[in-house]
Amino acid sequence: MKLATLRLPRRTAAVRIDGELAVEVGSPDVGALLAHHDWRERAAAADGPRHPLTTADLAPVVPQPGKIICVGLNYRAHILEMGRELPAYPTLFAKFADALVGPYDDIELPAVSEAVDWEAELAVVIGAEVRHATPERAREAIAGYAVFNDVSVRDYQNRTLQWLQGKTFEATTPFGPYLVTPDELDEGGLSMQCEVDGEVMQQADTADLVFPPAELVAYISQIVTLRPGDVIATGTPGGVGHARRPPRYLTDGSKLVTRIAGLGEQVNTARRHG
Ligand code: ZN
Repeated sequence: MKLATLRLPRRTAAVRIDGELAVEVGSPDVGALLAHHDWRERAAAADGPRHPLTTADLAPVVPQPGKIICVGLNYRAHILEMGRELPAYPTLFAKFADALVGPYDDIELPAVSEAVDWEAELAVVIGAEVRHATPERAREAIAGYAVFNDVSVRDYQNRTLQWLQGKTFEATTPFGPYLVTPDELDEGGLSMQCEVDGEVMQQADTADLVFPPAELVAYISQIVTLRPGDVIATGTPGGVGHARRPPRYLTDGSKLVTRIAGLGEQVNTARRHG
């Protein structure tokens, strides 16, 4: 099942995607849908108003997650090419919901930086409350997967040891187009690509993840309760602009395309504000 959040005049609506149709499922967004313990049955049975997908204006899949937890350094080949050892523990940091944009929205280039970079990532969306999860329970708590680009403002990220200020600039992070439930794909072998102005910058496979999704859910749930709608961005592979010589960054008008096999693609234009 594919789920998305549709922007409509004066409201938003969670929808199930059936081919070229978006069918309303009775909740204002996917986060609100997932808060119902029987969200799978509700979404599968819904027969609400229908909208053509081709003209749909999509919001971030979950527009207001309670938590967005991001993982640094999680692709084997990328870590080894950087000359580092494989980590014993995941690097974790956070982003706030204000950072999110829809899958076809503009990315806001901050007025204060010229060093805005891309990070294609597989996002995990939580579908059940979970704390101190076993690996099996962690797996069951995953509602689905979606495309995410952890767009990063490198000069701010590297001003201090803590990355937060470079990771949560407003309206920088596309999330969507939709969530796909785990029964419809094998999250351990999805090919991922990131293109800037038609040039492939990142190409990887989620089989290369050091800490796969269920392991991350289990680990993070030892720290804090994960709740429906919470998001874990699982980290990016090699090919980011900051690591290139010379470095490459997004500029006004740059077209960023991020796709993961089975999860669709985002197309975002970078626009300078202010
Ligand atoms: Zn990242």
